[in-house]
Amino acid sequence: MKVLVINCGSSSLKYQLIDSESEQALAVGLCERIGIDGRLNHTPAGGEKVVLEISLPNHEVAIKSVLAALTDASHGVIASLEEIGAVGHRVVHGGEKFASSVVITPEVISAIEECSELAPLHNPANLIGIRACLAIMPGVPEVAVFDTAFHQTMPKEAYLYGLPYEYYEKYKVRRYGFHGTSHSYVSKRAMEVGGLDPENSKIVVCHLGNGASVSAVLNGKSVDTSMGLTPLEGLIMGTRSGDIDPAIMEFIAEKENLTLSEVMNVLNKKSGVYGMSGVSSDFRDLDAAAEAGNPHAKDAVATFAYRVAKYVGAYAAAMNGIDGIAFTAGLGENDKKVRKLICAHFGYLGVELDEEKNAVRGREIVISTPESRVKVMVIPTNEELAIARETVALI
Ligand code: AMP
Repeated sequence: MKVLVINCGSSSLKYQLIDSESEQALAVGLCERIGIDGRLNHTPAGGEKVVLEISLPNHEVAIKSVLAALTDASHGVIASLEEIGAVGHRVVHGGEKFASSVVITPEVISAIEECSELAPLHNPANLIGIRACLAIMPGVPEVAVFDTAFHQTMPKEAYLYGLPYEYYEKYKVRRYGFHGTSHSYVSKRAMEVGGLDPENSKIVVCHLGNGASVSAVLNGKSVDTSMGLTPLEGLIMGTRSGDIDPAIMEFIAEKENLTLSEVMNVLNKKSGVYGMSGVSSDFRDLDAAAEAGNPHAKDAVATFAYRVAKYVGAYAAAMNGIDGIAFTAGLGENDKKVRKLICAHFGYLGVELDEEKNAVRGREIVISTPESRVKVMVIPTNEELAIARETVALI
């Protein structure tokens, strides 16, 4: 079956058409600047990328343009829309309502709407994509795959905050965690690649991209993760602060004469390794600047790595040990220096890195030595494939 996987942002839409039998992407693409002007980048498998400068006033037009690109005579990959058997949507926040993926119904749409106050930037955009597909492709089954669902197995002591309990009861203020599709996919692959027992394994997944989170996966189930009510908690990220003393917010608001929402904007968009270094949120730029002697870039990278290592240590406590550590996402998959910096903190766990293997890129690999007590792995994530698999499984 051919599954269209859609990841809708507020002004962008990523898509892949995946053949569920071969598990290969037939085409991948991105609509950018929706509601501003519009651009569609479309790449058929094995073909050249096509860039279409077209007007994309809203998501419905964007989806129509994607479908037109997929069926185009020159760069299309299917003869007609009837070949699309299902649509899988990434939905950011499922709150406590969704512990797994679901087939989209009017009730599911209402429930996703109710979760929107927990993810005001993301869920409304996801819903626009869902509604646009329902309007254009009525009768084609659609599935919602939630970023939060995998972490719904966290025990209470991992998801409660040290806040008045009524905030949890009244407003559902608790830790949810994100990147769940990636943590789920990578932890399963790590069990296979590392030869670990799914029923008896302690795995830490380090999803290190522009957004970054760590999860503790005990016997295949998430028991803790570093992001919280929102994706701002936890690790230092590209532009997000991660954990800070909450008192800093009032302190900076007074010193800099900022409103609360302006401080939030600083924490989300101007902090992280970008704010720390003043150089970039991209580790390629940071590594180069650090090598050229920029002390702030060096501090940013070292502090980032230290924070990751602290979380891994916390999860060793949460699971009473670790059998495997898996690195994934843009930085986790590609930056051998950062992996080495992080692993340098794990002598107490008996981790021994194989430098040659750590230098290999682009494939699933164990990068620790045979003597290492913990298997350290690089597992490229594939959220789109995971969404396509869930979609096919549900319909
Ligand atoms: P993601 O959010 O998973 O797409 O990851 C994007 C981030 O991965 C970038 O901002 C970089 O910090 C990092 N990244 C991607 N490629 C490399 C690379 N070759 N070396 C170092 N970092 C990389």
